[in-house]
Amino acid sequence: MCLSDQIVIKTKTARCLGVSQGIPLSSMETLVVDHPLVAHKLTALRDAGTDSPTFRRLADELVTLLAYEATRDVRITDVTVQTPVATAHGVRLAKPYPLVVPILRAGLGMLDGMTRLLPTAEVGFLGMIRNESTLQAETYATRLPDDLSGRQCYVVDPMLATGGTLAAAVQFLFDRGAVDVTAICLLAAPEGLAYMDKVFANSGKPIRVVTAALDERLNESGYIVPGLGDAGDRLYGVV
Ligand code: URA
Repeated sequence: MCLSDQIVIKTKTARCLGVSQGIPLSSMETLVVDHPLVAHKLTALRDAGTDSPTFRRLADELVTLLAYEATRDVRITDVTVQTPVATAHGVRLAKPYPLVVPILRAGLGMLDGMTRLLPTAEVGFLGMIRNESTLQAETYATRLPDDLSGRQCYVVDPMLATGGTLAAAVQFLFDRGAVDVTAICLLAAPEGLAYMDKVFANSGKPIRVVTAALDERLNESGYIVPGLGDAGDRLYGVV
């Protein structure tokens, strides 16, 4: 039985998954956004014939759709405004504002889509690269507030493959005091979700992964199958 066969579908409009023989995960929640527009854009992204400008546009549109679901628990505060007619009770985003953290380089392709939806969010940067021989994540740049106490963080990285990079990024944010972390990934592999669950099983902190699809598996080079290839190269070319 492969890992993806062990996934349990929990809700209808968005699928909430647990990887552990049908037992819902305690520390990590995964949401596969089940929407025809998401599936349509993802299919075009997967297509090897899609050129870089189109790929960038589709990734941008897709992240906005995923961010809509991912921000369902964003903290808000009650406010009252005066309409031209009467007083109205509403909400606005609570302070401290959320922090959006793209993982360089491919996460940059998802940044504009996030900040369009969350214009008041602050942006921090984490440069991480996967060592292609060890498949381990290595940090080469950080530009983040030192103190993330009380902050909700949204990490954006297109591909959740082995989970090494995402786990290192999430740990980095928790070490600086983040209260909860939501990762938005265009695609996820079952191996990556299982790894994240293993690493953070006893963290006691809420972690969510929001993705457009859960693919079959990783291949021997650590690429997601069927996947979409190297997201950074498809966004920005081979460097
Ligand atoms: N990173 C990518 O860009 N693609 C994969 O399939 C896995 C990791």
